[in-house]
Amino acid sequence: MHTVANFDRIGEENAFAVLARAGALAAKGMDVINLGIGQPDFSTPENIVEAAVKAQRDGQHGYTPATGIAPLREAVSADLHRRFNVETSPDNVLIVPGGKVTMFAAILMFGEPGADILYPDPGFPIYRSMIEFTGARPIPIPIREENGFAFNADESLALITPQTRLIILNSPANPCGGVTPKAEVDKLVAGLSNHPQVAILSDEIYDQMLYDGKQHVSLLTYPQIRDRLILLNGWSKTYAMTGWRLGYSIWPNALYDKARKLAVNCWSCVNAPAQFAAVEALTGPQDAVGEMLIEFDARRKLVVKLLNDLPGVSCITPTGAFYAFPNIKDTGWKAKELAGSMLEETGVATIGGPDFGILGEGYIRLSYANSQENIARAIERMRGFLGKE
Ligand code: PLP
Repeated sequence: MHTVANFDRIGEENAFAVLARAGALAAKGMDVINLGIGQPDFSTPENIVEAAVKAQRDGQHGYTPATGIAPLREAVSADLHRRFNVETSPDNVLIVPGGKVTMFAAILMFGEPGADILYPDPGFPIYRSMIEFTGARPIPIPIREENGFAFNADESLALITPQTRLIILNSPANPCGGVTPKAEVDKLVAGLSNHPQVAILSDEIYDQMLYDGKQHVSLLTYPQIRDRLILLNGWSKTYAMTGWRLGYSIWPNALYDKARKLAVNCWSCVNAPAQFAAVEALTGPQDAVGEMLIEFDARRKLVVKLLNDLPGVSCITPTGAFYAFPNIKDTGWKAKELAGSMLEETGVATIGGPDFGILGEGYIRLSYANSQENIARAIERMRGFLGKE
C-alpha cells in the first residue's frame, strides 16, 4: 500500500498516550495520580446534562444544519457580546465537534508546501503536527520562561516573511499557563497591519481561566483584523465538557463558506443533543464556572508552592489555564525521561515539555485538574523520586 506522504508527517498529542499508559498501570493495581491530561476533573454541571437528556427525550435525533442549530449560534453571539462587548453575527459562527476541529480546518485552509505558519513553542502539539501534515513550514514563536511564558509581539512580528500565511496565537496558554498582556496584543495587531496577507487563528479556549484579577483580551475586540481572524473556542474546558466534543469557531465572511463546506464533507453536523446542552451552558446559570475557578486557583497556588520546594525544580506562577510548567533543568533529568520514569515508578502522570515543542526541554507540564489532596500526594512522591536519584 502506498499512502500519501502527509501521513508520514502527521504527529500526535502525547497526553493521550500518557493517559492510556496511566490507565494501564491503574488497571494493574498501581495507585496512579493523573496530572497529565488537560481536562477538568469536575463533572459537567447538572443543568447542562439535563438539557441534553431533555433534547434526547424531545426527539432531537436527526441531523442539524451543518453550521449548528440557530439557537446555539445565536447564544454564542450573545455570549461574546456579553463578555467582550463585540458584535458577531450568528452567520459567522460555526459549531464544530471540539476545539481541535477549528485548528484542523484553519491549518488545512492555509497550509501547503511553500507556505509558512507561525505557532507558539512550547504550544499545543496539534498546531505543529497539522502544519507539517499540510506540507507548510512550521515557524515556532518562542514562548520564554524569562518573559513569564507570555507571548512577545516584536519577536513574533520579526518572524513574518512574504511566505507567512497564518499566525497562531493562544492565550491563556497551554502548556505554560501564560497570558498575553494587552500591550503585547495591541503591538501585534498594529504590526500585523503591515502584513495584510497573514490570517490569524486565535485559540481562546481557556478564555475564562484567568487568575489574579486578569481580564481576557479577545482578538475579537480588534475590528481592524476581524476580516482575517479565525477564533477558536468551545465548551470543553469552561464547562468541563471535554468528552462531549463540542466547540465553535468564528470565521470571517471570506472564509465561512469554505469552513462550512469542510463541515459538510467531514462531520455533517455536531451531535444534536450536545448542541442543546451547549445552549443551556451559555444561557443558564454560570455559578459552576465561578466555583470551578475558585478551586483551580487554590490548586494553582498549592502546586506552585509545593513544586518550588522540590530539589532542582523552580516554577513561576501561571496566571491562566490549569497548567504549571516547572523548570526541572537542575534535577539533571531530561524532561521526557523524568516524566516517563516518574509515571512508571511512582504512578504520577505528567507530560514532558518536549511534547509541546523544541523549547519545552527542561520543563514538565502538570495539569492541576486534580484534587488538592492528590496534588500534594503527587508532589510528595516526586520529592521521594528526585531525592532517590
Ligand atoms: N486548544 C488548546 C490550547 C487546548 O489545550 C485544547 C485541549 O487541550 C484544545 C484547543 C482542544 O480542545 P477540545 O478538547 O475542545 O478539542
